[in-house]
Amino acid sequence: MLLSLADLSLRGGDSYERIYMLESEPVVLGGAEYRVLLPDGVHIKVDRITGGFLVNLDLDARMYGPCARCLGEAVLEVHAEQQEFAPTAKDGWEETEESEFIHDLVVDVDGLAREALILSLPSQVVCGEGCKGLCAVCGKDLNKGPCGCADQKIDERWSRLKGLRLDEGDEPPVKGS
Ligand SMILES: [Zn+2]
Ligand SMILES: [Zn+2]
Repeated sequence: MLLSLADLSLRGGDSYERIYMLESEPVVLGGAEYRVLLPDGVHIKVDRITGGFLVNLDLDARMYGPCARCLGEAVLEVHAEQQEFAPTAKDGWEETEESEFIHDLVVDVDGLAREALILSLPSQVVCGEGCKGLCAVCGKDLNKGPCGCADQKIDERWSRLKGLRLDEGDEPPVKGS
């Protein structure tokens, strides 16, 4: 979806608002794929200011995919906002200061929405803050109850530690020292 700022014929101080109903590609986070829905669309507000346009985007996304801890179904609500400035004259603006999503006063609404969403994502998606995850030994979903591996794990660590101490004592002296 493209929005041409020049075609809006805004005068200084004018604003333009529109809701774009967009489909979003899935997002990959921590190796897992999350379906993205934008039920209320993407809200764009353009302000004509001195020297250019301020493009404000905000959206509420709902994401569906596996919980990073227990692999069960997780739903995540994300609110994202982003503001970009598009100068009417190129003079005086460095390449790096220009928005990656606005070229020749045409806004790539999909690209900007995706960037805003990705910048607002948490580092991992969980089904709930209290999710206990899966047992690292037997793989049981610990949200459904304990598995009995916990005690065993401690025993294993102890035996490994004992072995280590024995090995250290038996090490031959290093040659030449
Ligand atoms: Zn979970
Ligand atoms: Zn277990």
